[in-house]
Amino acid sequence: MSENNAQAREEVHDFIRDIIRDDLAAGRSDSVVTRFPPEPNGYLHIGHAKSMCLNFGVAEEFGGRCHLRFDDTNPVKEEHEFIESIQEDVRWLGFDWGRHLYFASDNFEALYDWACHLIRNGHAYVDDLSAEEIRTHRGSLTEPGKNSPYRDRAADESLDLFARMRAGEFSDGARVLRAKIDMASGNINLRDPVIYRILHAAHPRTGDAWCIYPTYDFAHGQSDAIEGVTHSLCTLEFEDHRPLYDWLIDNLPTPGRPRQYEFSRLNLTYTVLSKRRLTQLVAQRHVTGWDDPRMPSLAGLRRRGVPPAAIRDFVRRVGLTKSDNLIEVAALEHCIREELNQTAARRMAVLRPLKVVIENYAEDQTEELEAANHPADPAAGTRMVPFGHELYIEQADFMEDPPKKFFRLAPGREVRLRYAYFLTCREAVKNDAGEVVELRCTYDPATRGGNAPDGRKVKATIHWVSAAHAMPAEVRLYDHLFARPNPGAEGDFLDDINPDSLNVLEDCRLEPGLADAKPGEAIQFEREGYFCPDPDTAPGRAVFNRTIGLRDTWAKVRAKGGK
Ligand code: ATP
Ligand code: MG
Repeated sequence: MSENNAQAREEVHDFIRDIIRDDLAAGRSDSVVTRFPPEPNGYLHIGHAKSMCLNFGVAEEFGGRCHLRFDDTNPVKEEHEFIESIQEDVRWLGFDWGRHLYFASDNFEALYDWACHLIRNGHAYVDDLSAEEIRTHRGSLTEPGKNSPYRDRAADESLDLFARMRAGEFSDGARVLRAKIDMASGNINLRDPVIYRILHAAHPRTGDAWCIYPTYDFAHGQSDAIEGVTHSLCTLEFEDHRPLYDWLIDNLPTPGRPRQYEFSRLNLTYTVLSKRRLTQLVAQRHVTGWDDPRMPSLAGLRRRGVPPAAIRDFVRRVGLTKSDNLIEVAALEHCIREELNQTAARRMAVLRPLKVVIENYAEDQTEELEAANHPADPAAGTRMVPFGHELYIEQADFMEDPPKKFFRLAPGREVRLRYAYFLTCREAVKNDAGEVVELRCTYDPATRGGNAPDGRKVKATIHWVSAAHAMPAEVRLYDHLFARPNPGAEGDFLDDINPDSLNVLEDCRLEPGLADAKPGEAIQFEREGYFCPDPDTAPGRAVFNRTIGLRDTWAKVRAKGGK
């Protein structure tokens, strides 16, 4: 953690921060105001984290401020649930908009007035063409567009029609307001773009007050200007919209002069980050909800146990450029492991239990053994774990007929029980099906704490829990939601869903102290990975999520063509 903080304090350099430094040095700006502008039509995902780290990060680094603005101009897809979740997720990631919470819909009246201003100055007109006709008039990349027959209608007539559009006299799609720019422009965004449309739909915030709504292009830059935003940072798909952004600012009496700059979106392997696709995963129940731990949503990552610091660190390492990129999800996983390695308390948990009976340890005896909470960090202290006559160990830590390099438990073999004693397997007990169901073992009382006074060595240390004290739990293991690095690249992305992305282990046994763990608390189950309690935990039913394994086993499986 401390290392990350030190890195964060170093001066960050990328093309956007360099532009801002230049603007400040040249006196083009005297302050830095940015905004993070989500549309409340879904939950935030890790791609949004890149935008947030940039917008809030820049504001902090340059002593400015960053607004949270809901870009709520499309009432059909927007909901209160998303407005709430977005605020929760921005805060969780570690950012604070202070009192600067805004909604584009707060500006509807000002935007309406500005639209009238454009009409009066001959910069906008009401068009009666249908959406289809407008499309065919627009031309193509190689052909210029054609003027609408309504393009030259008098400003007074447009003003009157626009007022009647607002008053609800016309049905959806019957008319639109278009900026009057240039139907022959090489940039299709400048071919008289639609800036208002009729939509008889209730809005989550303005209710039925409006039946015309500004388009993104008309609302965004103008909201930037109203809020005093200086640097409007967005993703590359808006690069071609910048001339329109500037045209609108040039032709309106805006209080400020914001500038738009574009950077590339974050894309991740084995992941989809389009809200449309994420919405589809939720709606069609391919996942349990927006906060399903397999989702790349911040709510999903949080539930999975991913610490916000790991996400910020990941975004910092990815950096900022203008070139399209596909980042390995393994890079994110690396950041998660690094962060959790430093912060997660160590505990013992047995995921696939095999019973061990210690024949020379009295049945009614128990004792408490001291275990380190973080072996690399003595300041994390120790805890006591109960030990007794019956234990559970991992099935994978025993082999009846071990190959050469298997050093863990086997008949006649001695191993160390972590923080406890040396243990020797005397006999494997089998059921009728021939499966090993219990190990009969002995321990060496002289090896308490895990070392033999005679200096004899063992080649393996395994973890365990006391059968009498262990807490039963369900543990959910996750794998990538998609089985291909670039879902949907060769067809429907739903066909690339990984059928084995969730593996539920229902009969796990945890060290009893884990009963006190809180949702989101990061814990390393020694030798198994990083875990956290899931909110599904209820009295008498502990549920844990595996945030991530200790090593990247996925890459190995893939390399072998395993799945
Ligand atoms: P969709 O994925 O449906 O296109 P969106 O990304 O446009 O949705 P918004 O709510 O408009 O969703 O995004 C808010 C801000 O986050 C925008 O400025 C957008 O550019 C940025 N953003 C969204 N996705 C990414 C991403 N993958 N990488 C970086 N920034 C992103
Ligand atoms: Mg958008």
